[in-house]
Amino acid sequence: MDKKELINCGKVKSVYTTSNDDEVIIEFRDDITAGDGERKEVMSKKGSYNAVISSKIFKVLEDEGVETQFIDLPETNVMLAKKLEMIPIEVIVRNIATGSLVRKYPISEGTKLNPPIVQMDFKDDEYHDPMLNDSLIKALGIASQEEIDILTSKALKINEILTEFFADAGIILVDFKVEFGKDSEGNILLGDEISPDGCRLWDSETLEMLDKELFRKGKDSEVMDAYVEVYNRIIPDDEKVI
Ligand code: 5GP
Repeated sequence: MDKKELINCGKVKSVYTTSNDDEVIIEFRDDITAGDGERKEVMSKKGSYNAVISSKIFKVLEDEGVETQFIDLPETNVMLAKKLEMIPIEVIVRNIATGSLVRKYPISEGTKLNPPIVQMDFKDDEYHDPMLNDSLIKALGIASQEEIDILTSKALKINEILTEFFADAGIILVDFKVEFGKDSEGNILLGDEISPDGCRLWDSETLEMLDKELFRKGKDSEVMDAYVEVYNRIIPDDEKVI
């Protein structure tokens, strides 16, 4: 692929310009981080597993009418994508209470959340991704009320589609984080990635964790087996490329 200039080097992905001004190349690296990037390791092929899983999920969402930035996966760890101006909000949807929700609020681990909770955090490691509300988002000039409503309804639609998609693979979608951006015409599209890095995924029968929470808990040796398990369950044999 003709990578031109590196325009963003994030914690686990690098974004490059291409010869087409409306497209970017996103390289998924093998890095894994926790604690706002304070802990970092390298795990062989992790970038490829996340890129292939993310591409599959973006294609499933596109088929269901959710526009994403995905164009193609020319290499196992390289995604060709529509260029977006990213909105610095982490939109989190929760179906089961765990993680920071049970640490910060009086709600028991494992409580089913129906309707799901939609939470928006400010994407900024320096400020430790603080939680936002509508008036903060508007006061900070991050998004308008109309845009906040679009983000909320898109995140809930993604939750509906992916809850069923993962259930078919014997996986509970506990919670997840998504990010959105605007294309050159101002349309809001799903961007970034949806992978075990930004989702909590539990085996439907054993409730064992199949996501980055293992790394957050220091169970580093179990991380790649979990990611490969998710890959094996959601990627059909004729689409397997790793
Ligand atoms: P919590 O707020 O409970 O730590 O996370 C809620 C959900 O959002 C989890 O699925 C978690 O993976 C995801 N999430 C929240 N913040 C981040 C982040 O900064 N990076 C990633 N990769 N995922 C996040």
